Amino acid sequence: MQRSVYDAEHETHRDGVRRFVAAEVVPHRERWERAGRVDRELFLAAGKAGVLGVAAPEEHGGGGNPDFRFNAVLNEELAAADVLGVGLGLSLQADIALPYLLDHCTPEQAARWLPDVVGGETILALAMTEPGAGSDVAAITTRAVRDGDDYVVTGTKTFITNALNADLVITAVKTDPAAGRKGISLLVVDANRAGFRRGTKLSKVGQHAADTAELFFDAVRVPATQLLGEEGRGFYLMMNHLSQERLAVAVQATAQARRAYELSLEHAKSREAFGSPIGAFQHNRFALAELKTETEIAQSYVDRLLLAHSRGELDPVEAAQAKWWISELCKRVVDRAVQLHGGAGYLSENPVARAWIDSRIQTIYAGTTEVMKEIIGRSLGV
Ligand SMILES: Cc1cc2nc3c(=O)[nH]c(=O)nc-3n(C[C@H](O)[C@H](O)[C@H](O)COP(=O)(O)OP(=O)(O)OC[C@H]3O[C@@H](n4cnc5c(N)ncnc54)[C@H](O)[C@@H]3O)c2cc1C
Repeated sequence: MQRSVYDAEHETHRDGVRRFVAAEVVPHRERWERAGRVDRELFLAAGKAGVLGVAAPEEHGGGGNPDFRFNAVLNEELAAADVLGVGLGLSLQADIALPYLLDHCTPEQAARWLPDVVGGETILALAMTEPGAGSDVAAITTRAVRDGDDYVVTGTKTFITNALNADLVITAVKTDPAAGRKGISLLVVDANRAGFRRGTKLSKVGQHAADTAELFFDAVRVPATQLLGEEGRGFYLMMNHLSQERLAVAVQATAQARRAYELSLEHAKSREAFGSPIGAFQHNRFALAELKTETEIAQSYVDRLLLAHSRGELDPVEAAQAKWWISELCKRVVDRAVQLHGGAGYLSENPVARAWIDSRIQTIYAGTTEVMKEIIGRSLGV
């Protein structure tokens, strides 16, 4: 499929990204999966390769270009190299957490945090979810009480990506429990603060290199200068940023589905049964035809949203549409890819088997399929 979403500048960036992925990610994948976390050096290498902070201002070491298509290129190249679903934490840093700092830091905060985030010396986490509040973000109970020049933070977060490696945790807290959504604020918490503790890594079915864990805040004193944006605006900031996060998942799901289709096509041409390549059987040829059609339709929609986002016109409802539909599509595509590979598709070493397990989360995080449909449904005026 001919795509027109990228310019020459994006393709030049892609060459560098491809070299970065081949040199700094692929050789380490198995070791990181066994260890259950990536080395911090991955972030340093990503910073050096210029993939963490394309959107950050040049004065802070970034690329000075807020065009999200550069981020999309990284996700596509990770999928093409069969390492997208490993759980590297790069997307969390570059696509999801960094934009909060870019949009809401004061000049002093930006100067303090951005250079090291862009360079990969500082690893970010974003902590919204709690044991009692996932989809219903407004129900969080982690409390921040103002005491002099500090907030005192107490509570528990769970399912936090980059939890073990993080140096800075953008944390959703209740500053006014009586004010509902208007009582939520964002605090940037240094992980070396007294009272901050990380749980053990959660044992997940996939994304084995992702250090997803609980975080505990036991009367952690956080200087009030670490408030991100205005007090009481945290819920609305999160809702705004979720659109880009959802587009990122849609980009990843499309790239993952396309890769599974390509691998299945190759396999269908080379694997023989009953004297013919398995792709010669009409059932399989039709299956491949469907995978090609569906992934290209998804690609067209995502490309349209990427272009809209690059113009500052990403519609939250369309981002929700892309997120649920393409993540559900990816689930079906990788499942059919496993079937087309036969027994080989069930081996952990096979990229389609890994994609099958690792991509399952896509319909759940960044807002579940059901929550996406709620958002879309509410926009219909019915
Ligand atoms: C690997 C992984 C990484 C994650 N990373 C992070 C992270 O870095 N930071 C972070 O803050 N969180 C993170 N999360 C948490 C993730 O965002 C939540 O798991 C997700 O939002 C769903 O919340 P929940 O698990 O509490 O499910 P619940 O909210 O309990 O939902 C359970 C079921 O009920 C359905 N449901 C809920 N509300 C409705 C409704 N109104 N209508 C219909 N159905 C509904 C859901 O769709 C789902 O099917 C991560 C999770 C995982 C597994």
